[in-house]
Amino acid sequence: MIVVTGATGHLGRLVIEELLAKVAAGELPAGQIAAVVRDRAKAADLAARGVELRIADYSDPQSLTGAFRAGERVLLISGSEVGQRVPQHQAVIDAAKEAGVALLAYTGILGGPNADFELAAEHKVTEQAILDAGLTHVFLRNGWYNENYTERLAPALDHGTVVSSAGNGRVASAARADYAAAAVTVLTEDGHAGAAYELSGDVAWSFDEYAAEVAAQSGKAITHSVVTAAQHQEILTGAGLPEPFAALLTDVDAAIARGLLAGTSGDLSRLIGRPTTPIDQSIAAALALR
Ligand code: NDP
Repeated sequence: MIVVTGATGHLGRLVIEELLAKVAAGELPAGQIAAVVRDRAKAADLAARGVELRIADYSDPQSLTGAFRAGERVLLISGSEVGQRVPQHQAVIDAAKEAGVALLAYTGILGGPNADFELAAEHKVTEQAILDAGLTHVFLRNGWYNENYTERLAPALDHGTVVSSAGNGRVASAARADYAAAAVTVLTEDGHAGAAYELSGDVAWSFDEYAAEVAAQSGKAITHSVVTAAQHQEILTGAGLPEPFAALLTDVDAAIARGLLAGTSGDLSRLIGRPTTPIDQSIAAALALR
């Protein structure tokens, strides 16, 4: 059995789709996919397609008892509740160990132990907890999603400017679907146990290039406006973001300026057997939806 947590999220849904596609192609037996979700209703469509549902909340260790069984391959998709993820992930790790799973794959962050920015902290602790538990593991150290920059194009299109405090820093992003495909590779193929993959796009782009691409595709004048971290924080809170979240995003831009999200190891394209999705393709897809 292959078990996917966070299966009702954006990444989890893509992972389940890829697994179901493998079933349809006869590459995976039917009835071998389970989804750990906290909201049964939200996953009703998955159940209707033959995915076994196991209801559990990362914040409720008891609910995780029975979420996994001996010999299963599990994908732990990191939670979205920043600040609570260490105990949440620990609860999943404990349940997986207790059950005796065969493999635990974890979606961490590009750079792993070397990622020294705030958003990376919980991922680093989680990786260590997995090592401490002695679980057979795969670390999927995900770089940034293209969608982080294409799902909210409206402000750039409306104001004619892309604001960042990342300077000339570059981002080797890839589509969520690419990261999902990589997860499916390690869940369905042998030979990945113990690996730590640095997953990122094949090409790293700068915000100048990104703004120019959005301009070219939209036909609007859009430039990259470089601001200081303090100015960035003020702009984000002014736009209604809570202060701690604005601080996290500003800290990410500082990490980008230091080159921490620019690595192009090629691990992702190697795992998925094709080039990663370029940012211009994701921009085009997002503009087509407007
Ligand atoms: P989503 O926010 O779409 O999905 C998060 C998933 O985690 C959802 O299924 C959510 O459940 C589940 N979840 C959150 N908290 C709990 C909980 N307490 N118990 C059980 N399930 C929980 O994020 P994505 O799918 O886009 O990304 C996956 C993860 O990757 C994120 O959670 C985050 O850790 C990280 N991330 C990475 C980014 C990158 O660029 N690499 C960018 C943003 C996030 P529900 O559907 O019920 O809400």
